Amino acid sequence: MTRAIQIRQHGGPEELQLVQVQVGQPGPGEVRIRHHAIGLNFIDVYHRTGLYPLTMPATIGMEAAGVIEAVGEGVTHLAVGDRAAYASNPPGSYCEVRVMPAMCVCKLPDAIDFETGAAMMLKGLTAQYLLKKTRPVEGLERGDHVLFHAAAGGVGLIACQWARALGLELIATAGSGEKCRLALANGAAHAINYRTEDFAARVKEITGGRGVKVVYDSVGRDTWDKSLQCLRPFGLMASFGNASGPVPPFAPGMLGAMGSLYVTRQTLFTHIRTREATQAMADELFDVVASGQVKIHIEQRYPLEQVQQAHRDLEARKTTGSTILTLA
Ligand code: NDP
Repeated sequence: MTRAIQIRQHGGPEELQLVQVQVGQPGPGEVRIRHHAIGLNFIDVYHRTGLYPLTMPATIGMEAAGVIEAVGEGVTHLAVGDRAAYASNPPGSYCEVRVMPAMCVCKLPDAIDFETGAAMMLKGLTAQYLLKKTRPVEGLERGDHVLFHAAAGGVGLIACQWARALGLELIATAGSGEKCRLALANGAAHAINYRTEDFAARVKEITGGRGVKVVYDSVGRDTWDKSLQCLRPFGLMASFGNASGPVPPFAPGMLGAMGSLYVTRQTLFTHIRTREATQAMADELFDVVASGQVKIHIEQRYPLEQVQQAHRDLEARKTTGSTILTLA
């Protein structure tokens, strides 16, 4: 038996309940991993509320790091005793021990501790595919402006640093002056408090009226319209989340009228659908973290049994950087 956080129905943080569940042996293509730390992500909120529906009962959570305890038939890249970390689909990381597909689990380099591993896989791989693979048709060059919303959050702080390493001029938005300062300290070239300032007007000002080549938007409903206004002709709207609610339906014709814009809705799990792709992306992430180019800021830690409070704080926009759930 192991401790796990389960939901029996979609709803508020109170639905997150500590339970004991049975853990079996890994089948073909699976491993059993004992977690040392678990990553908290905004997608966990979507799973809890039902914005992304799950079959009940469900253990949510998509990120963790720990030690491999058992290996199923056909798994060759992991062995018992290996330190490992993952971003997983299906969810199920809010627990001490789980059996899961080995495909998404990567060996954790010695230079990276468990807490950092748990805090960076889903968020870091996301920042990576956004900045390196989600590019406008005209390409991205050093010195180009991009706009990144919620830049002081988990994905955001990693993206600020990685964008600086790539030579991009990242314009950050964030929900307070303190969060703006944090984004600037982590590599953003400019920062806008989008709760007090008109971010589209400020982006025009910063870019001399030209607009940005890409907007990376995980806020969704509240930022959608103005984000489109920030793009230059042929610019790319990269939507990847809905922290404020889903993006409303829109008429494609308006993209033409606004400058022949492109829109894409990306999800990490398309990028890591094979073992080879997962490992290649993870290796790149491990490199930038181990070399210090990207620092993983764990700003909040909650014991697993205080997960309800962790969700409340995340939804109330009280967190910055990465958050982890700790295990006694
Ligand atoms: P964050 O730490 O960034 O937390 C979400 C942030 O969104 C908040 O801190 C807040 O920052 C901002 N926000 C704006 N409006 C709201 C609102 N109404 N309610 C709550 N928060 C709001 O979370 P993560 O780093 O875990 O994830 C960032 C985003 O990336 C999420 O939307 C997530 O779903 C998405 N994501 C998408 C993936 C994909 O592949 N498609 C993969 C991983 C993450 P502020 O106060 O500064 O506005």
